[in-house]
Amino acid sequence: MRVMGITTHDLRAPTSRTLAGSDAAHADPDYSAAYVVLTTDVDGLVGEGMTFTIGRGNDLCCRMIEALAVHVVGRDLDELTADMAGTWRAITSDSQLRWLGPEKGVVHLATAALVNAVWDLWAKSVGKPVWQLVCDLSPEELVACIDFRYLSDAMTPAQAVDMLRRNEPTKAARIAELRRDGYPAYITSAGWLGYPEDKVRALCREMRAEGWQSFKTKVGISVESDIRRIEVMREELGDDIQLMADANQVWDVPEAIDWIRQLPSGLRWIEEPTSPDDVLGHAEIRAAVRPVRVATGEHAANRVLFKQLLQADAIDYCQVDACRLGGLNEVLAVLLLAAHFGVPVCPHAGGIGLCEMVQHISVIDYVAVSASLEDRTTEYASHLHELFVHPAVARDGRYVVPDAPGYSMALHPWVFERYTWPGGSEWAG
Ligand SMILES: [Mg+2]
Repeated sequence: MRVMGITTHDLRAPTSRTLAGSDAAHADPDYSAAYVVLTTDVDGLVGEGMTFTIGRGNDLCCRMIEALAVHVVGRDLDELTADMAGTWRAITSDSQLRWLGPEKGVVHLATAALVNAVWDLWAKSVGKPVWQLVCDLSPEELVACIDFRYLSDAMTPAQAVDMLRRNEPTKAARIAELRRDGYPAYITSAGWLGYPEDKVRALCREMRAEGWQSFKTKVGISVESDIRRIEVMREELGDDIQLMADANQVWDVPEAIDWIRQLPSGLRWIEEPTSPDDVLGHAEIRAAVRPVRVATGEHAANRVLFKQLLQADAIDYCQVDACRLGGLNEVLAVLLLAAHFGVPVCPHAGGIGLCEMVQHISVIDYVAVSASLEDRTTEYASHLHELFVHPAVARDGRYVVPDAPGYSMALHPWVFERYTWPGGSEWAG
């Protein structure tokens, strides 16, 4: 099978009209997808992938995907997948485009869309969901999907293979367990920062009735309003429910420490307390705000930054993002690194399509990589799943293991008609 061409689609949902998704740094997001379809010479078989943005600039990601596509279009799928690390290296090492990153920003977001589409195509070609394709690889094959350049000072390919080998005999039992019980999750949808108090209360009650046991709220506008928000959620949810808080990068390091110490006790984690690039700042905050723990990663641009966060004991929770990193290859690298350092991976999701992708990532982490559910929970947000043909499903506060072949990225046809920017019916009217 050969990749014959690509099309890109600039899709934007007008979420800023309801303030769904709003936080201290992003007051009016329009949740968007720079979406790519790889066409093939096999009738009906396409690879679908995307990266997530929050509106303006989504078009730049689409143009960049088209620029990078030269590394995929015209090549046989077998050739691309026989050396996935090499395929990834070719895309991220484009001798001119890499200047725009390297491995960060628009060029890396676009890499994610393209790489995720290749994984989707590979999984569909063998009739498996992506998590199963990865979990069925041998330890050597899985490690061969990862570019270890810049990682070997922290973890060698041989160490990674050893770790994966230890989990081999018990994989089937963990798959059966996840199919029976689902994967533990938490929900963010009650705590968007733009929501008034009565809406937060109503959503907390509704989500608790749906079986959610773990919640997150946005913070960071004022200490007083954050204390109030946390107290309101505690009143509605009780003390037995886990509660996390997310500052979305708004604080300076000393400010973060001072602010977090003023918040009501019992928070499980503070998320993105400062700049996503500030490894040592995270380490300082982490040491100062115990017993609140520190989570970050949704804006960590690449595996090198995760390596440093782990080497510096800067985080308690590793929040990989399916699209911020350069697609599933690099996510696998971070899963291995986190397991090597003994830090739980709690993927970032929400957005468009992120829940659909991270459900695969968490299954891979448990079945093949960390073999642990201890202290793990994967983000879930309840909006925009209706766009997908095979949407992520949460039941009783847990993700249901996906079964459809591919990376769960197929969209209904109406999505293109409605959300294409600027000509779709949602925008043109
Ligand atoms: Mg966050």
